[in-house]
Amino acid sequence: MAKVDVLVVGAGFAGAVVAERLAHAGRQVLVIDRREHIAGNAYDEFDAHGVLIHRYGPHLFHTNAERIVDYLSRFTEWHPYEHRVRAWVEGRLYPIPINRDTINQLYGLNLDEEGVKAFFERVREPREPVRTSEDVVLNTVGRDLYEKFFRGYTRKQWGVDASELAASVTARIPVRTNSDDRYFSDRFQAMPKAGYTAMFRNLLDHPRIRVELGTDFAAVRGQISARHTVYTGPIDAYFGYCYGRLPYRSLRFEHEHFADIERYQPVATVNYPNDHAYTRITEFKHATGQRHPGTSIVREYPQAEGDPYYPVPRPDNEALYKRYAELAKRETTVTFVGRLAQYRYYNMDQVVGAALTAARTILGESE
Ligand code: FAD
Ligand code: UDP
Repeated sequence: MAKVDVLVVGAGFAGAVVAERLAHAGRQVLVIDRREHIAGNAYDEFDAHGVLIHRYGPHLFHTNAERIVDYLSRFTEWHPYEHRVRAWVEGRLYPIPINRDTINQLYGLNLDEEGVKAFFERVREPREPVRTSEDVVLNTVGRDLYEKFFRGYTRKQWGVDASELAASVTARIPVRTNSDDRYFSDRFQAMPKAGYTAMFRNLLDHPRIRVELGTDFAAVRGQISARHTVYTGPIDAYFGYCYGRLPYRSLRFEHEHFADIERYQPVATVNYPNDHAYTRITEFKHATGQRHPGTSIVREYPQAEGDPYYPVPRPDNEALYKRYAELAKRETTVTFVGRLAQYRYYNMDQVVGAALTAARTILGESE
């Protein structure tokens, strides 16, 4: 039986960060991943045409947490980039998040900030309490904007109506009265200069870390003697689905390269709330800053089956997750961390934060 101090299941943000911290503290760490590559869903690679693409959809790094930027900056330099998105609605592109220009262009108005505030006050449908993702949008911008920008996108993305989803899902998208058209409001927004995979290579490049790819936990469970296990896969899978399956939403990614055009669309991402089976098209060069005579895009088609990408925030799923979390508490030599193991709709920076905390707990350090 192979012996290590710590077995880490998953080489995404959660696994790689915990592995780095524990190795740094002197532990011998074995990281396994069932995929043939590191970096989890943040994996990027050069496609056959030499364009840096994200295999599992667009990953834009943004955070307000300085300690997370400081930590990751040990493993990467940054390419400054603020993400911008447009939504294709009734044959035109509009800024999303909804802002002053969205309102003025959509309704042929010329409102200033105060005017936009008054406009939202007039059209909003107050909800008390704000419980669902539908409530969030109706409560701030009213029905017409909800139907044009949110209803179709949400149904496509999640396979259920916004009224069936927790408020936190659409609450991710701000509503602005000024002309700020950045997708995120965070203080720090950037891309790892040489890409995510390169940053992960640096994270995992430690004499006390060994990485074994193409290795499923199920296949080696019981064959590796570890004092502690860090599990970052789906929590229901760890427990053999004993309470039934936790729903995770999946996607099919359709990548395409255009050899003869430098730019496919005016911004990195165009959302299609009401047209097509895909939710959005992302053109990577906008975000990475790469220069290339051609360009590569990805279309995202949501689906129920396939690799788990999104936990589905709904009260019944939360309740089922809590039952698994109770079982997890009893596994005193196992730490469950990450988007799949904690069943949380985490961004990358939040996963890094959770992983740093998990590592401190394992090492018996206080925050
Ligand atoms: P993952 O990256 O999923 O890593 C888990 C790893 O565990 C995987 O590599 C998997 O193969 C492995 N694994 C699972 N089960 C087993 C097993 N049984 N045996 C061995 N290995 C196993 N976040 C942002 O901040 N900004 C964005 O712009 C952004 N865009 C996104 C776009 C899409 C389409 C998606 C799906 C997510 C996006 N995210 C974004 C979220 C981001 O991907 C996650 O927060 C982050 O990658 C989660 O890291 P993780 O380590 O928890 O999980
Ligand atoms: N959303 C929408 N229309 C949009 C953008 C987002 O309805 O143009 C809703 C949709 O429910 C989506 C959620 O807001 O799933 C969160 O969007 P985000 O862009 O953060 O999703 P992610 O990048 O995590 O897939």
